[in-house]
Amino acid sequence: MFSTRLQCETCGNELELGAYFGPCPNCLKREIISEISVKYDYEAIKNVLSKEVLSKRSRIDLWRFGEFLPVENQKNELHLGDGCTPLIEARSLAKEFGIKRLYIKDESRNLTWSFKDRLACVGVARALDFGTKMITGLSTGNHGAASAAHASAAGLRSVIFTVPYIPKTMEIYMRMVGAMLVPIDLPEDKFGDYPYDILRTCVEKLNWYPLTAYTVPPATNAYAVEGYKTIGHEICEDLNWKSPDFVLFPTGQGDGFSKYWKGFSEMVTVGFVEDSPKMIAVQPTGASPLAEAVTHGLDVVPRIAAKSTVQFSTGVSSSSNEALKAIKISHGSVATVSDEEAISAQKNLGMKEGIFSEQSSASSVAALPSLIEKGIIDRDSTVVCVITSSGLKDTSVPENNLPHISPIRNNWSSFVDFLKTTYQYDIS
Ligand SMILES: [Zn+2]
Repeated sequence: MFSTRLQCETCGNELELGAYFGPCPNCLKREIISEISVKYDYEAIKNVLSKEVLSKRSRIDLWRFGEFLPVENQKNELHLGDGCTPLIEARSLAKEFGIKRLYIKDESRNLTWSFKDRLACVGVARALDFGTKMITGLSTGNHGAASAAHASAAGLRSVIFTVPYIPKTMEIYMRMVGAMLVPIDLPEDKFGDYPYDILRTCVEKLNWYPLTAYTVPPATNAYAVEGYKTIGHEICEDLNWKSPDFVLFPTGQGDGFSKYWKGFSEMVTVGFVEDSPKMIAVQPTGASPLAEAVTHGLDVVPRIAAKSTVQFSTGVSSSSNEALKAIKISHGSVATVSDEEAISAQKNLGMKEGIFSEQSSASSVAALPSLIEKGIIDRDSTVVCVITSSGLKDTSVPENNLPHISPIRNNWSSFVDFLKTTYQYDIS
């Protein structure tokens, strides 16, 4: 293992690599919520890992970048096909938007069809290091499905807390991969808030292992979120060891966003690429604390009253200061996307590139046209949009936006008429 210590991203306070999963205790005294991050001996990694060594490893899963992950016992690594997701050149969309090169990093190809599998894969492996028996967390779907599935595959149990208004498909998915799912009554106008009290008791009194924030968001399990970094590693490798100019990520609490940035930065640190991309966080209009911080030039992300959104996975009332830092250091930006724009991009992705993404996930593509128009992204750029989860997780919104169809009579004229009236396609 090449990880050495835990370190606060804000005050630099260091901790042993122990079973601690909360925010920085030092910053907490000053009522600041800071993420803790894992430190590595990058010189030691450089001594054993090179691009050549990597090229000889099979592209099966994220453990090909195992030197950058904080798991002590290699036997605990879960090989379930997480990571090594395709980087697809989206030629039709690039042409439509008038940019040189556009790629889609399709995270719906992971075990439970979302990028959260990277977190769960590394987080559960680390849980096995600690000898944990029970995984827990709060989720509206993707995170819970990933946590429960990886816990089950590792022979562990999981209790996942949720809210009552999640999509039915998410509920079924979580339960079918082993979650003991506990919905807690919370009104929808409290969107972005979660019930933390019970979870905190489970972690502090029962020693259950949290795969999400368990006190206050966005400070979360520092070991698990390291899994997200491999998105950055893989993009660099797939672009023949070059960073793209811009990467757009659908972003909620931002713990993922700061780790994607860490992944790209690590590739520079070990000398695999020369520079890192500009990072663009995409959040729903009206539920975008990062936009609030950037617009008002703040160093601390404010807590906002988030409105309800069909971009279910990214609508939040708080985001991490570390995500804001990543935007600033990388000379990146934040973009907001309305529900209408996200729904339209979701349809466009399916029609032009054959990818059925979640509404939230499609927001990375939805944000592109206005960023190009404003000159934030120039047309000569290489751009990567990350699609974080599959559209099959919540079909209610697309279902309402598609024209209704019902069976036709089994004859030619009914068929001709049906194509014309339903899809405006005339073969008569
Ligand atoms: Zn601190």
